[in-house]
Amino acid sequence: MTLGEKQAALVALAGKLGRERFALRADTYDREASFPFENYADLRAAGLTALCVPERHGGGGADFATYCLVSAELGRYCGSTALTFNMHVCSTLWTGALADDLDMTPAERERHERHRAEHYRRIVAEGAIYAQPFSEGGAAAAGKAPFGSVARRVAGGYLLNGKKIFASLSGAADYYGVLCTEEKPVLSQRDTLYLGVPAAAEGVSIAGDWDPLGMRGTVSRTLLLRDVFVPETAELMPPGIYYQAASRWPHMFLTLAPTYMGIAQAAYDFTVSYLRGEVPGVPTKRRMYPTKQIAVAEMFVRLQQTRALFERVIAEARIDPSKEERLRAYAAQYTIMEGSNELCRLAIRTCGGQAMLRSLPLERLYRDSRCGSLMLPWTAELCLDRLGRETLYEPGETDG
Ligand SMILES: Cc1cc2nc3c(=O)[nH]c(=O)nc-3n(C[C@H](O)[C@H](O)[C@H](O)COP(=O)(O)OP(=O)(O)OC[C@H]3O[C@@H](n4cnc5c(N)ncnc54)[C@H](O)[C@@H]3O)c2cc1C
Repeated sequence: MTLGEKQAALVALAGKLGRERFALRADTYDREASFPFENYADLRAAGLTALCVPERHGGGGADFATYCLVSAELGRYCGSTALTFNMHVCSTLWTGALADDLDMTPAERERHERHRAEHYRRIVAEGAIYAQPFSEGGAAAAGKAPFGSVARRVAGGYLLNGKKIFASLSGAADYYGVLCTEEKPVLSQRDTLYLGVPAAAEGVSIAGDWDPLGMRGTVSRTLLLRDVFVPETAELMPPGIYYQAASRWPHMFLTLAPTYMGIAQAAYDFTVSYLRGEVPGVPTKRRMYPTKQIAVAEMFVRLQQTRALFERVIAEARIDPSKEERLRAYAAQYTIMEGSNELCRLAIRTCGGQAMLRSLPLERLYRDSRCGSLMLPWTAELCLDRLGRETLYEPGETDG
């Protein structure tokens, strides 16, 4: 993929921060299962927390593909930072470039402009960070039912009640971009609301502990919302628009994959350094053994296959993609999430016992990579589910 000048500069900036700072801190956040606050201070200072805020609102104006390339570069050095960066950036990408593609009435467009201006001001002027809690432990995050967290319209705004599991950035975010359903006699996915809830609002609390296998620095605890009032200006999209986005801009759910593309690259990078005897503490060269050469060759092939699909689908992302483009996005998500873990597995098998000691990053990469396939709404299983059905059936077709 040939990068534009701006894209190349942003990827280089992410790489420099990642190499010189994030990689050195990753082990501490992983061991402590603590949030990478120092990395966020660096991202903020470099202007990257405003990466996808439109330029006229003082941000970087980066598009979908540019975000994906930057995120993949961050993922090479700290998976937890890249994954949480995804949650934050989505609050600007979905409300920005993506929302600009959607149909809105003039009144909805005016309302959206007014609300998002305030949202972007917080990020650009105040350095605010957003989380993106939508998972609830039921079918909603898989896109199969309305969210059980509800918002009732009251004078001047909404009253929220609900519970979100796996709320990455819990306790660290300044705002939670909550997906919920507008309370009506019958709950409907069409009435999904996307509301920016201040972490300091009355009724917001964090519960549960956090001691997971991987992606430990994401600190994804449970978010509780009890009679939380937010004004109408908290709408990150006008009512009804999130449903349109999810239906017409499916690649919006691909934004988690770049993190794992970065981890796949990191597993390969580590293996090459290790076999060349360049990893500190393990100076023995092993590159002269034919079995190692074959193994690393297989890793390279797998990495290139994964990267090629990644680059193709991020370039294809747009509103109303063709059926083939949509299915290819599912295939890419599946390939990246499963491929990332497979490359880490091959890296451990190839490098050997000393390579998986906790003093080296490979075992963290392995644990972090395992989490990719679990991310809703496009888990590895659900991607296969969609592919199996949608390759064989056109919309509306049945066998009866
Ligand atoms: C490190 C990490 C960080 C995360 N951060 C966030 C975050 O910031 N925000 C957020 O909202 N979520 C986040 N998640 C949650 C994630 O997106 C999933 O919601 C979560 O992993 C699902 O766990 P579960 O046990 O509830 O899965 P379940 O819902 O029980 O699903 C288990 C599996 O069953 C399948 N499945 C689920 N529903 C259906 C269905 N209706 N039909 C067919 N198959 C189905 C899927 O393949 C799924 O993997 C995070 C998860 C991890 C691991």
